[in-house]
Amino acid sequence: MESLIQCITRSPILQSFKNVRVSSNRHMLKQSINHIMSKKVMDRYMRLPMPCNKVLATYCWIDGSGINMRCKDRILSCTPYSADAAPGWAFDGSSTGQATTANSDTNLKACAVYRDPFRLEPHVLVLAEVYMGDGSAAKTNHRKFCNDLCEYHKAEEPWFGLEQEYTMLDVDGWGLGWPKGGGFPAVNYEFSYCGIGAKYIAGRDICEAHTKACLYAGCDFEGTNAEVMFACWEWQIGTTIGIKAPDDMWMSRYIMSRISEDYGVVVTYHPKPMGPKHPGVGMHHNFSTKRMRNDGGYAFIEECIKRLEKNHMKHMKNYQHDEQTNRMRLSGKFETAPFDKFSWGIANRKASIRLGRNIKEKGKGFMEDRRPAGDCDPYLVCGLLMDTCLGSVGSGGGGKKGCCK
Ligand code: ADP
Ligand code: MN
Ligand code: MN
Ligand code: MN
Repeated sequence: MESLIQCITRSPILQSFKNVRVSSNRHMLKQSINHIMSKKVMDRYMRLPMPCNKVLATYCWIDGSGINMRCKDRILSCTPYSADAAPGWAFDGSSTGQATTANSDTNLKACAVYRDPFRLEPHVLVLAEVYMGDGSAAKTNHRKFCNDLCEYHKAEEPWFGLEQEYTMLDVDGWGLGWPKGGGFPAVNYEFSYCGIGAKYIAGRDICEAHTKACLYAGCDFEGTNAEVMFACWEWQIGTTIGIKAPDDMWMSRYIMSRISEDYGVVVTYHPKPMGPKHPGVGMHHNFSTKRMRNDGGYAFIEECIKRLEKNHMKHMKNYQHDEQTNRMRLSGKFETAPFDKFSWGIANRKASIRLGRNIKEKGKGFMEDRRPAGDCDPYLVCGLLMDTCLGSVGSGGGGKKGCCK
């Protein structure tokens, strides 16, 4: 038990779970109630044919924490094939950290519809934005900020490619497959990145199931890889146009929560889940516009880098769920640049902004912003990249002054 307590004090994640009772049981996975409920029995009910005028719609939204999501189900009479066709809805915002009890009715406005990979067609997942009773956007609803910029700069055709890193934890909060009692995996990090074999990786089934489910849903899902740290993985959304990138990222996060629930595994996007001695977890944002991708685009990329440098701290204030934890990650170690200092470089993984190796020869391309933490809001990051590089809404373009929060 003593060694378990040591492992708890070492884990920033466990320290932040104030009300979680930690058990010293060494077989937590087998204790996960969601995991042990028989999927075979469930299958009997999943196979039941539904009346043709009944479609199940799961509305999913970002709650008041800004990183966790919630969902609730509704029976519709036909499949909404677009967000416009999905009815608006409401929920109790006082139970999601989004409203007070006395003024709790909070509204859901559909913004994207996906095929439901859990119930299959014709059922759907509906990504929804949250609006307060008075019609204003909820505090954690940054989609409007991002979408307005996407619309304003439509002619520039902003493209994004997002790399979501994540860590799998056992339900006791300790790394999946990490030795119980505070030990560390007996592997050197260089073998876990894109690694194979039980010694080097853990949890591939979840990564695999997630890939299939996201593709079925209709996300622009691009790839996956095992990451540097044991039980840490990455998936990529993109390259895709404008708002679809952050929309698909949030929906793929929702799908990941559902799949990991099935497996009795906790997925976290915490930027430094295992403390300072172990690698961090980020969400690199790859960004380009028509001008950057066309001949001569390199000059414009350089111009954008200058603007990003000027606005470094404004971006850093919005690139994570909690500044302290991203500061822990952006330590200058483990392929990161320091939090407070902007830098850029070609093929440099220790820079804030990395450009591809051949960008100068080609004279065009895209940039990779390596600063956002794993638990950032991609609506904020994509929005800020457009705001700083292309200009605020109404500015006439050209990188004029803008602000978000
Ligand atoms: P690495 O791990 O080496 O940074 P990845 O393959 O994980 O590379 O991610 C590269 C990302 O770059 C992908 O998400 C891809 O969509 C994105 N990308 C490629 N070309 C462009 C482009 N022109 N504009 C924006 N993003 C791009
Ligand atoms: Mn990557
Ligand atoms: Mn990575
Ligand atoms: Mn990257």
